[in-house]
Amino acid sequence: MDCIFCKIVSGEIPSTKVYEDEHVVSFKDISPLAPVHILTIPKKHIPSLLGIGEEDKELIGHLHLALQKVAKLTGVDESGFRVITNTGEHGQQTVHHLHYHLIGGRQLEWHA
Ligand code: 5GP
Ligand code: ZN
Repeated sequence: MDCIFCKIVSGEIPSTKVYEDEHVVSFKDISPLAPVHILTIPKKHIPSLLGIGEEDKELIGHLHLALQKVAKLTGVDESGFRVITNTGEHGQQTVHHLHYHLIGGRQLEWHA
């Protein structure tokens, strides 16, 4: 499958990983929008939030715990941060492998 993030999981495309376990991997976004900008993905290829199934409930809970770890590892747990999952065309999703942006390290603003 021609998926950039599956290639990051396999190591075919290099990335700067900040966290990894059996089910998920977290790595620095190539075009950071803030001092901290980490993408966390399931190793399983799921195209978007809409592709999450009943069988993935445990995986998604696990991924949220990984997001907590990433927040602590990058030191934004005290100051605060934002987690975003862009979905579909209006959501401006550009990579069709489920991913959660964790953004922080500066005061964020809220623009839709
Ligand atoms: P989306 O636009 O789908 O919400 O987010 C995709 C994100 O993946 C973008 O922020 C983009 O900078 C990032 N990205 C795209 N290709 C690569 C890559 O090859 N390596 C890394 N580390 N990030 C990438
Ligand atoms: Zn994929």
